[in-house]
Amino acid sequence: MSHKLFLLPGDGIGPEIMKEVKAIIDWMNANLDVSFETDDGLVGGSAYDAYGVAISEEDMAKAMAADAVIFGAVGGPKWASVPYEARPEAALLRLRKDLGLFANLRPALVYPALADSSSLKKELVEGLDILIVRELTGGVYFGEPKEIVTLEDGQKRAIDTQLYTTSEIERITRVAFDLAKTRSNRVASAEKHNVMKSGLLWKEVVTKLGAKEYPDTPLEHVLADNCAMQLVRRPKQFDVILCDNLFGDILSDVAAMLTGSLGMLPSASLGAPDEKTGKRKAMYEPVHGSAPDIAGKGIANPIAMIASFSMALRYSFEMGKEADMIDKAIATVLEKGLRTGDIAKEGDTVVTTSQMGAAVLEEI
Ligand code: ATP
Ligand code: MG
Repeated sequence: MSHKLFLLPGDGIGPEIMKEVKAIIDWMNANLDVSFETDDGLVGGSAYDAYGVAISEEDMAKAMAADAVIFGAVGGPKWASVPYEARPEAALLRLRKDLGLFANLRPALVYPALADSSSLKKELVEGLDILIVRELTGGVYFGEPKEIVTLEDGQKRAIDTQLYTTSEIERITRVAFDLAKTRSNRVASAEKHNVMKSGLLWKEVVTKLGAKEYPDTPLEHVLADNCAMQLVRRPKQFDVILCDNLFGDILSDVAAMLTGSLGMLPSASLGAPDEKTGKRKAMYEPVHGSAPDIAGKGIANPIAMIASFSMALRYSFEMGKEADMIDKAIATVLEKGLRTGDIAKEGDTVVTTSQMGAAVLEEI
């Protein structure tokens, strides 16, 4: 059976790092008993230049029909003044919304060879392997009312609404517990039930569902502010951290910085399982942006992008073995001392994007 991948390289370093993933896909098609069918589209500024929109309807339809979307990065100074609806980031929001990608998975993994890249002490982060599971389509980012109103006395008042329903909390909770079972089997749920009604409901729903459906997975509740502190103080206490949209945004950036290397971090965004096929819509992308400052120079680190493809194998295609193979190849290449500029220390030999990609493929 052939798997449909829709590739959206995007802007800046996006196309450069996507090239390295394409090479891996080609190699897999030629050498393994798998068959990936790929198609390319335009997204972000590159779509704006071609069509005047952040993503065309044709490419949206292809994204909807694909088994997985592999996304590079969008944006850059060139498109700073395009109309608001056509700004590059609008494509990301549209994709998330139309594909129903409610679960955002962000691993924070410290590769053994890079344990001294973090600004934290090596002992604190060595062997770190956390997965943040963030709710992505609800909460204060989308809740209505959301507005700025002018009051009678001339003051303005801004309103954002943090809004969650039981079913929204349940579905993200299941994702977190299911993933925990494939890892160290621990879930920490972060909210602020002490000051927020939504936090109270969150805690209640997670507790009930955890006890009923996942009695063998230890669950801990942690206040989101304390979670941020614990992440910096003693990060290895966590396995899976479950959180809402806003706290997840913040906590996943904290966790990312623990690893000290933005160019290394992948992410996955998953939708609900299809009622008939059980398959989820999904999009995989590096955590970093389009890095306009280094675009076109061939020096970007392709590892976050390659690791995002590995997540696609794991979560969309049940190819855990192949995903392990890629992850291991990345670790080995780092072990051997290969470094792109972003992860290099003084005295390291610095390799280009394509040299790094080729070295990972060679190891695979
Ligand atoms: P966005 O708004 O899209 O998140 P950003 O401005 O937050 O973008 P990035 O585009 O991720 O940030 O870049 C932040 C810094 O990290 C830049 O200096 C960039 O060059 C560097 N960087 C990001 N990704 C990589 C990568 N893959 N390889 C090397 N350096 C990178
Ligand atoms: Mg950013």
